[in-house]
Amino acid sequence: TLAELLAAGAADRPAIRAPERPALTYAGLRALTERSIASLNGMGIGRGDRVAIVLPNGPEMAAAFVAIAGGATTAPLNPAYKDEEFEFYLTDLKAKALVVQQGMETPVRAVAARLGVPVLELIPGTAAGEFTLEGGTAASATHPGAAEADDIALVLHTSGTTARPKIVPLTHTNVTASAGNIARTLQLGQADACLNVMPLFHIHGLIAATLASLAGGGAVICTPGFNALRFFGWLDAERPTWYTAVPTMHQAILQRAERNKEIIARAPLRFIRSSSASLPAQAMKDLSVVFGAPVIESYGMTEASHQMCSNPLPPGQQKPGIVGLPAGPEVAIMAENGTILPQGEIGEVVIRGPNVTKGYEANPEANAKAFTNGWFRTGDQGMFDTDGYLMLTGRLKELIKRGGEQVSPLEVDGILSEHPAVAQALTFSIPHPMLGEEVGAAVVLREGMECSERELRDFAARHLADFKVPRKVVFLPEIPKGATGKLMRIGLAEKLGITA
Ligand code: ATP
Ligand code: MG
Repeated sequence: TLAELLAAGAADRPAIRAPERPALTYAGLRALTERSIASLNGMGIGRGDRVAIVLPNGPEMAAAFVAIAGGATTAPLNPAYKDEEFEFYLTDLKAKALVVQQGMETPVRAVAARLGVPVLELIPGTAAGEFTLEGGTAASATHPGAAEADDIALVLHTSGTTARPKIVPLTHTNVTASAGNIARTLQLGQADACLNVMPLFHIHGLIAATLASLAGGGAVICTPGFNALRFFGWLDAERPTWYTAVPTMHQAILQRAERNKEIIARAPLRFIRSSSASLPAQAMKDLSVVFGAPVIESYGMTEASHQMCSNPLPPGQQKPGIVGLPAGPEVAIMAENGTILPQGEIGEVVIRGPNVTKGYEANPEANAKAFTNGWFRTGDQGMFDTDGYLMLTGRLKELIKRGGEQVSPLEVDGILSEHPAVAQALTFSIPHPMLGEEVGAAVVLREGMECSERELRDFAARHLADFKVPRKVVFLPEIPKGATGKLMRIGLAEKLGITA
């Protein structure tokens, strides 16, 4: 359970930190968890009851997740949701209570009032993450006390990159197993501190940055969220030993690296971690050169409580454009008919292990499709190389079917990203009357660089078979991102008004 994970931390070591605040120690976090369970129980909320959390990104949100999951089920929601979304999620989750920060104006308050969901006010204390809960009415909880291993600790939504977000329940066993896997991969210890820039309503920030840090006995430094301008200030003042982010953030950091050379030179980063979407090989190389630290790309998903594979730390080899060695669950490649394929063959990536969800909530149709012979189908396509590293070739739902050919947009992204003028590239499908789909690409150029559509297409044609070369390239100041910072391929043509 989460409580057992916390119990291993040294009492006086920092667990949760935030810029310009005193740290919350492990002893403090354990006490906070006990107080929170008692106060929730006093409001009639206990094990298995869902508590929706809508808080600004920061130490209170990290602490609320840990402390509330100690005796109930947490459901962190994106504070940027609009009325309809809050209504949908609160109803969908069957939330028994909602936690918001005192004084924070958010439409979720009115939605909760309308739905009759009690609102609990979180009042921040002095130390980073410390809080008290007020509101609610006195009642007795059906299942009071500390959560057990099979209780659901966390209910999250997938990122919604390929379809409407699905609800994923994760047990204490799931999340602590995953946090342990990540801590082992990254060799996290007491001396480590992770600068968290990821949203805490997504698995990456919750498990990789927060819970893995706690599993290692170290600290997580909670920021309000990613901000390329403030990033270097945090790096300098807080002196984290690592940070983890999605590729769009790393790319924004790279864009500002030159003018922050001195800060980078004195930063004590042991490594940099990237996950949740493909890190173009070029970005990985640039990051490791600029920071003089190894860049560890990992492969994670909500349903796996995050990490499935990871590149190892040195002396292990980090392979650009490759998501690494199985790092937690068993990982295999499956053919469409359900047989496991040998090394070197391409198929669907499947996983099984203690970190994997038992199934989506209230979605028998999705569950029937997701599990085959005890394996969970990730929807990602890939193969193992001869060293046992997993190479992803794309997401099954994102493959572009151009006439009789299949194009992996990921492969095209990788090539376009190698052009010296390209900062970011996203290949997408354009509906086509004859071919079904045609290949398009959206490109963000590096500051001060120029490049024509023609030049990029010629560049792609030198590295790719003709059918994979984007027929249209659009230049954008920025590529639209989802709530967790991931680039949204599906529906991009429609969004940009691009037709064949
Ligand atoms: P939805 O399931 O709602 O469409 P999503 O799959 O993007 O959204 P997440 O659970 O946040 O939601 O993301 C998991 C997916 O992200 C993986 O299945 C994989 O496609 C992709 N991913 C994660 N890490 C990497 C990586 N290092 N390289 C490439 N893709 C990655
Ligand atoms: Mg998914």
